[in-house]
Amino acid sequence: MNVLKLLLEKIDYKKERMVQIRRYLHQYPEVSFQEEKTAKFIEEFYKDVPVDKLETNFGGQHGIIVTIKGTKNSEQKNSSNHNHHKGKTILLRADFDALPVTEQTGLSYSSKNPGCMHACGHDAHTAYMLILAESLAEIKDLLSGEIRILHQPAEETPPGGALAMINAGCLEGVDLVFGIHLRADIETGHIICHPDSTQSGQSMFKLVIQGRGGHGASPHLSNDPIVAGASFVTNLQTIVSRRVNPFDMAVITVGSFDGAGQFNIIKDSVTLDGDVRTMNEETRILIEKEFRRLVAGLEVTFNVKTQLDYTNNYPVLKNDPEITLQVKEICERASGLNASQTNQEEILIPEITKVETGIPWSASEDFALYLQQRPGCYFYVGAMPEDGIWYPHHSPRFRIDERSMIISAKSMAAIVCEYCS
Ligand code: MN
Repeated sequence: MNVLKLLLEKIDYKKERMVQIRRYLHQYPEVSFQEEKTAKFIEEFYKDVPVDKLETNFGGQHGIIVTIKGTKNSEQKNSSNHNHHKGKTILLRADFDALPVTEQTGLSYSSKNPGCMHACGHDAHTAYMLILAESLAEIKDLLSGEIRILHQPAEETPPGGALAMINAGCLEGVDLVFGIHLRADIETGHIICHPDSTQSGQSMFKLVIQGRGGHGASPHLSNDPIVAGASFVTNLQTIVSRRVNPFDMAVITVGSFDGAGQFNIIKDSVTLDGDVRTMNEETRILIEKEFRRLVAGLEVTFNVKTQLDYTNNYPVLKNDPEITLQVKEICERASGLNASQTNQEEILIPEITKVETGIPWSASEDFALYLQQRPGCYFYVGAMPEDGIWYPHHSPRFRIDERSMIISAKSMAAIVCEYCS
């Protein structure tokens, strides 16, 4: 029997429920670390689902872990003609937090929570994962190995939810980790899996420059922190232009420079806030070192005192190249796009129209933390609205093509069947 085919039929049958779940979640978004009702909704969903274990408040936050154990023979795992893929313990992660954004999509199922919106698609991540998990639980007698479904809170706000999940042991015994992010900028039907560093690492800084306030007419009797700060912003540009290898990607952005005051008063202090993105660990370390050097130089040059908080939040998200190419092949094969395929093979997921390795995405993501500890793949499923008009993630007009959910559920189902059946 073709287990994947059965699984896909189940998912197809639940298509409308998946949309309903997503639209419900879309109406009641909750921001990071406050996803109490969303977690309750997820917990309720599993009440009648034959899972082996349901753990709530995982990591002391709103995380939920569901365990589904394949009961199809553990003996096959050790048989002589075993396939090393089979019978693994795999972790599938879907995040479920929303953003402090006021929705402006005009959709009939728009957010009912003022100032809060699912503007990154985590509602759809949750909906597809719930339907997939339920379908997997229903056929667990045909699966081997173990599937751990991780509903993760607080992806959007550093330090993020992943850290607490990992500290609480979600990766114990796990062989491989997988996750999907929907992308409104990628055509629906397309899948991108990049077999290397695919999302940036992110750090942030807060720098307080303490000068000496005074009369605007007597600068020599005070010490102007705005002049020191302005010089610092300019000098900062030399890190990327003069220190970082031109073949490496790096971004340093000063997002806030609080210098507002009174025209005839020299300020006492200013505060700068900013953001750093890199695509490898060496560059991250280099930038932090150079940054601290410039701050030390600022004190000497301008005779100011400084206070620096430099925080490394999410590391670079690095996919395992081998596993990622396997994911690519699994998706291609299921959708009849693999070049070596004979046309006798049945096309199981015709909704997938293109699979490519693509290019990295400059956003950061705490799935990176799981991939630091286990091999796996985080990939992108196209969710561009049918009319071709798309808005960036986190935009108040962000919307998706809901067909992307069925594609997510089905491609993940194909991955599960590869490693656990
Ligand atoms: Mn997101």
